[in-house]
Amino acid sequence: MTTRGGDGAGTTEERASRPAPLAMVVGPTRLAPSVRGRLADQAPPITDHRFLAEVRETMQLLRPVLGTAEGEVFIVPGSGTAGMESLAVSLLDPGRPALVLSTGMWGERWQELCSSLGLSSRVLRAEPGRGLDLDEVASRLRDESYQAVLLTDVDSSSGVRADVAALTALARRHGALSLVDGIAAAGAEEVRQDDWDVDAYLTSPPKALSGPGGLFLVSLRTRALRVLIERTWSPRGYSLDLGRWLPVMRALAAGGFAYFQTPPGSLVSALAESLRLIVAEGGERTRRHTALAARLRNGLATTGLRLFTAAADRAHGVTVFRTPTGIGAAELVAAVERHGVVLQAGTHPTAAKHTVRIGHLGNHTADDVDRTLAALGAALAEFDVPDG
Ligand SMILES: *Cc1c(COP(=O)(O)O)cnc(C)c1O
Repeated sequence: MTTRGGDGAGTTEERASRPAPLAMVVGPTRLAPSVRGRLADQAPPITDHRFLAEVRETMQLLRPVLGTAEGEVFIVPGSGTAGMESLAVSLLDPGRPALVLSTGMWGERWQELCSSLGLSSRVLRAEPGRGLDLDEVASRLRDESYQAVLLTDVDSSSGVRADVAALTALARRHGALSLVDGIAAAGAEEVRQDDWDVDAYLTSPPKALSGPGGLFLVSLRTRALRVLIERTWSPRGYSLDLGRWLPVMRALAAGGFAYFQTPPGSLVSALAESLRLIVAEGGERTRRHTALAARLRNGLATTGLRLFTAAADRAHGVTVFRTPTGIGAAELVAAVERHGVVLQAGTHPTAAKHTVRIGHLGNHTADDVDRTLAALGAALAEFDVPDG
């Protein structure tokens, strides 16, 4: 790895005295000091009654964030991707196809993980930067019988927020379960699992929940639970099988204890703290994300940058814009970083090289947005590009 000119340059002392850049990234997002504090604590014994009470509290705190009174909540060790795999392993019958509704790289991931697990899936792709065409989804669901649709609430590669309620309703009409990846949504967007009739909703802490990486969070409603309990096929996994976690989570919810795998105590404690902050912020949290998104996008428009995402389909915690003609995403990101702000080059399957992602989900402020715009403006001024 080269250190020339980058953040790693210079002596250790020089590096330590340099101000940390502002990370405007999709994840991991900035942790509140009280959340960081919990990470440093000694993990309690897993049978400790205070710890068990905190696990129960965490399960309860997730309900308003996911918009569910009915769902059974799971807190499981693993990355967000492990959470996607867990839903597939636990709920998909290897003998029947599922339909992936893809709005970017995370749809491709659904498809890839299904195929590597030997689960059959088909993919319907939205136009880049747009939501899914509901008529097309309906026609696919009419053409073939699917056990489930797999979708992404907010796809961070395209900046698209799906119309989850409409897609779930279509799935329901055709007898398919809905499994939703809400990893870049919950905590930034309003999520209403019960009202939207979503069977399985997944999220993970290090994105808009401003929590620690290393856990994934699932809420299953009745139909998904029924599949889990009544399935006759064998799941293609062990640690990630929610069928094995169900008795543990039920024991914990009832105030008891059951063991399947050692829970990472510090992570659970830090997650509990981040959820307390989110629940205390209440409805102001989604309003703040909406306001920051508008502030950022107005500023980008003033700078002459065009968004990748169609106006009707934009998420509120991530903004994806096109680089000006002649400037690649990686070189623009590097230039902005020299002005103290970390952005991320694109990851959309067809537009990665010419799009840049800005994450403004979690604990960001208007000042962070203004610093981002200033750094971008300064970086763009270094390129020799025609006006417009
Ligand atoms: C980040 C992300 C994931 C993957 O999470 P990891 O913890 O990196 O595995 C999945 N889906 C979406 C929408 C994401 O933003």
